[in-house]
Amino acid sequence: MIDSHSHTFYSKHATGTVDELVRASVAAGVKVLTITDHAPFPVDSDNRLLESELDHYFADIERAQQIYQGQIKILRGLEFDYMPGSDAYNRDLLARYELDFAIGSIHYVEVPGNRLVKVWELPRLAGHAFLDLYFAHLEALLESGLFDAVGHADTLLRGVPEEIVLRRLEPLLPLFVRNGIAYELNASGLRKSSLDPKSGREIHGVWSYPSRTLLPQLMAHNVAFTVGSDAHAPCDAGAGIVDLLNALQPLGLQSISYFERRRRIDVPLDSPNAPAAVKSNQ
Ligand SMILES: [Zn+2]
Ligand SMILES: [Zn+2]
Repeated sequence: MIDSHSHTFYSKHATGTVDELVRASVAAGVKVLTITDHAPFPVDSDNRLLESELDHYFADIERAQQIYQGQIKILRGLEFDYMPGSDAYNRDLLARYELDFAIGSIHYVEVPGNRLVKVWELPRLAGHAFLDLYFAHLEALLESGLFDAVGHADTLLRGVPEEIVLRRLEPLLPLFVRNGIAYELNASGLRKSSLDPKSGREIHGVWSYPSRTLLPQLMAHNVAFTVGSDAHAPCDAGAGIVDLLNALQPLGLQSISYFERRRRIDVPLDSPNAPAAVKSNQ
């Protein structure tokens, strides 16, 4: 199992040390784990790594790499925030730290009136002003050339009807391959709440994202996929990944990618060579 999206206490709103996350991931059957705590960023700076913590963060990962060598491959990642005007800040961070994997995600959208809408504020996601900006920012993220994958591009499915999200996502699909950026299949959509389209109430136990309808179109555009639990606690290590892949394979999903030293490695699903290919890199 590959898990390319996970958090530790370094993200502040997540729990568990690097060591605890790694141990839980090993127990869950993860063979390739990328730790992707929220990168330093001027917005919402209490909910992420501080620049002053980065050396400790990478030292913790390096220590775990040594301790768990042979049991699990551990990779150095960060989940970056994308907002207009953030390119220079993120580019500077990327230049200073050697990463295996850089996720670019949109968590905040500033709508007119200086209001910051967060993508987990479900009732606010369906507004036209928000949607226009979110997808404009997503296009800019894809064109920025900074990241290896887009994190949970389809997280809006928690609060917006699928046909609306897909209509806005579809024109952007050619940009993934053109910019060499992967589409993340984020398994946290299998356990997070979403809005019931009829009642508008928040409900649990419904698969909101990733979109199963979009998958064939992504594949038709030759988009590469990463997969991640987006665990924010050790108990969620690897969560949902097996269920997600079991559901997507019959729809045609053939391979999952992960990144090492910012280079993409494709692992075919259901291939007898897959486990060996992963193992040989350990
Ligand atoms: Zn995220
Ligand atoms: Zn995350």
